[in-house]
Amino acid sequence: MDSILQLGMPLLDILNQHGYPAYLVGGAVRDSLMGCNIHDLDITTAALPHEILSVFSHLRCIKTGEKHGTITVLTEHGPVEITTFRTESTYSDHRRPDSVMFTTKLEQDLARRDFTINAMALGRDGLIDLFGGQTDLSNKQLRCVGDPNQRFQEDALRMLRGMRFSSCLNFQLETATAAAIHRHHHQLSHISPERITAELLRLLTGDSPKQVLLEYADVISTLIPDLAPTIGFCQHSPYHDFDVYTHSVNTVEHIPPTPILRLAALLHDIAKPVTLQLDSKHIGHFPFHAKLGGELVAQRLETLRLDNATRLGVAKLISHHGLTRDLNPKDVARCLSKLGESLFFQLLHLDRADSISKKVSTTCRDAHWDKIESTARSLIESNTCLWRHQLAVNGSDVLSSGLTGQEIGISLDILLQHVVHGTLKNDRDALLAWLHNYALSITPNPKSP
Ligand code: ATP
Ligand code: MG
Repeated sequence: MDSILQLGMPLLDILNQHGYPAYLVGGAVRDSLMGCNIHDLDITTAALPHEILSVFSHLRCIKTGEKHGTITVLTEHGPVEITTFRTESTYSDHRRPDSVMFTTKLEQDLARRDFTINAMALGRDGLIDLFGGQTDLSNKQLRCVGDPNQRFQEDALRMLRGMRFSSCLNFQLETATAAAIHRHHHQLSHISPERITAELLRLLTGDSPKQVLLEYADVISTLIPDLAPTIGFCQHSPYHDFDVYTHSVNTVEHIPPTPILRLAALLHDIAKPVTLQLDSKHIGHFPFHAKLGGELVAQRLETLRLDNATRLGVAKLISHHGLTRDLNPKDVARCLSKLGESLFFQLLHLDRADSISKKVSTTCRDAHWDKIESTARSLIESNTCLWRHQLAVNGSDVLSSGLTGQEIGISLDILLQHVVHGTLKNDRDALLAWLHNYALSITPNPKSP
């Protein structure tokens, strides 16, 4: 509790001294009770927004949502959101209350909050826990404040927040709360893609995404409809114990928690259902599913409003997946040169995770991936020429040899291929001589080297 007391209590004292009840609330209280780091601080108070501004007139304040009662006070330890106790009216759009009313009663403010573990208040006099938040915390349980059906119909995003907390905290959603998610998840269509994506990425990059992705496959496939055909889809393969969706979720579990890697793991086999071909022994093959999957994902992720770097990064990874599975160490330089450093190492993660997620008990192929990875690292460390900028000649050299326009890039690419494949040494004289001959072969009057 030390840090939260240090940061928040002096602010509560200032409000209290001016006669306003005030409490720390929400995630900060939850996280401090769990002994976790606190990353943002929320205070709830009876003071009205203009009164908060006046109490903290000695500090910089931002009117974050004055109409909803929120003022951000910039303290020496960082921003703190201070919000007036409030209740909420009806919700006609499943997203936002039609109006908010300020109140002087803390109980009403806590009752509008989503989960019991987020609805505790900590004041100078101790913890106020009206809905059994502490019990739920110790049972690692997420339970709505009030009737989950009503709470999710009011604001559909709460369902995804619940799933995200479940993944990040490794908590279970309580039975009635879970049932209400299965019942009402279609209402997520009322929520903006940006807010959905933000929660989805936090869910995917949490510590325990597997149980949530499996238990709420119906919700996930509503958000990403192309996943629907993968659920329960049999692979007809001796290499696979699981249906495509379960295998993909296993892959998520085995890959480091970055948004690009986790999304790629979840979506990497999205094109398997449409590419299945059964051979004469009834064994499934999925020709070009990687390439097709990459193309599909590049389009579909646009609807989730992901930034371009993430969207294209995921699509590229998917279209290349499987490439390093049987890669011979002597071909690592070629592969690294073709893909670039970042994509290559991300692909190693994906292919490794994909490979160990296929069977109940997989023969561990760690030695293969370790070998590929160490080969790649030593190529980079030894400054082996893998990319254009490492060639012993550059664009000006090509120009001087008489080549112009597109031929400059093309000839540098051919040179790089030669060097990486070992048919030419990365030696300036050797490369200049090659350029001269190349220029001779394609232009009538090349300049002398
Ligand atoms: P984190 O900051 O780790 O995401 P948090 O619980 O602090 O977790 P915030 O979005 O910062 O989440 O919200 C602060 C508090 O506001 C929550 O703890 C909860 O009490 C309340 N809250 C936030 N969003 C909602 C919502 N959609 N419906 C009801 N209460 C909410
Ligand atoms: Mg918070």
